[in-house]
Amino acid sequence: MSKKKNGFSRRDFLKTAGAATAGSFLNARETLAKISGTSGSELTVVPTRPFGKTGVQVSVLSLGGMFDIPSNQLVLRQALKWGVTYWDTADCYEGGRSERGIGSFFSKYPEARNKVFLVSKSDSRDPQGMTRLLDRSLERMKTDYIDLYFVHGISSINELNNGTRAWAQKAKAEGKIKFFGFSSHSNMEECLLEAAKLGWIDGIMMTYNYRLMHKTEMKEAVAACKEAGIGLTAMKTQGGWSFGSSSAAKLVDTFIERGFTDAQAKLKAVWTNPHIASICSQMPNITILMSNVAAAMDKTNLSAGDLRLLDQYAKETAANYCAGCSNICEKALGGAVPVATVMRYLMYYESYGDRYRARSLYGQLTPEVRARIGSLDYSLAERRCPQGMAIGRLMKRAGQLLV
Ligand code: SF4
Repeated sequence: MSKKKNGFSRRDFLKTAGAATAGSFLNARETLAKISGTSGSELTVVPTRPFGKTGVQVSVLSLGGMFDIPSNQLVLRQALKWGVTYWDTADCYEGGRSERGIGSFFSKYPEARNKVFLVSKSDSRDPQGMTRLLDRSLERMKTDYIDLYFVHGISSINELNNGTRAWAQKAKAEGKIKFFGFSSHSNMEECLLEAAKLGWIDGIMMTYNYRLMHKTEMKEAVAACKEAGIGLTAMKTQGGWSFGSSSAAKLVDTFIERGFTDAQAKLKAVWTNPHIASICSQMPNITILMSNVAAAMDKTNLSAGDLRLLDQYAKETAANYCAGCSNICEKALGGAVPVATVMRYLMYYESYGDRYRARSLYGQLTPEVRARIGSLDYSLAERRCPQGMAIGRLMKRAGQLLV
């Protein structure tokens, strides 16, 4: 394998990143020094792409802020050095510690603010609540403006209305936000298609990965947003559960032979679509940041065989992955429980290993909903689920694990 001009090849990276993962903090520091110390003319920051019709170029890798940022300021510093200048947070992340950590960083390095494309989100839907949360986010992050402000986690475009539109126009006129949009991990395709008709959505962050990107509905939704000039950010790009399957092991081995980790290959698969401006990834430590940055900087394209392998893996493990099409199963259950939401919390618990977040979010469901989760008959929902998921078994499992 050839070395890059900056003297650090992908295989070097894998070797050292592997050491950093398994080894001590000293190893991680040595790895960083090795990369950061390179000079040379090869790309030393991650590339950028245009974000819809906003006129803004954003880094193709976005720093997801769902981690304890006050205790991990080094991650922000290093992200900036590597050109990861698109930062994503939300009013609710880590109970506000995510935004406060970004505020601490901007207080210490005020010159950094204008280099960052900053995103935050509102859990509120009504204009009064959104104003309260936006003002609180600005105060927490020690900034006068947020570049892109999202309504957080919609599952239907009906969660936005003319009041939302007027609110966004006013916030823009006051200089508090530059652009407006929403994030979605349920019914993403419908949300994107409807957003493309509105004419006042600047950006969307949605669940998008190698499992979903080849589906006709998703292709049409992305094409409609591209046509409407809406900037798109992909999230949940690792595609959830992968443990315990023989094809997962094959995936890992094959990509390591190619010089990637399977996680890097999954990022690269998303970047094959030029209409995806950026990938938002949770990067709570330098090792993960470094791995993702290396994937973003690396110019090797996935081969047709690589993409086929990912597709095969997606098909073989479909029943382990909730595609967020809650309109299907929740309709079959008469809206009694939020299946896709609970499946996402279960994914946080089992796939991400983020037990605290999973339990904390599950605990925010009403006691009535939690009581129903273990006792419903899910057979009709299971028959309609396009992923063939064992919904009843998984919901019961969630009810036991997440309490
Ligand atoms: S459980 Fe099945 S039908 Fe329900 S959202 Fe997930 S993939 Fe879609």
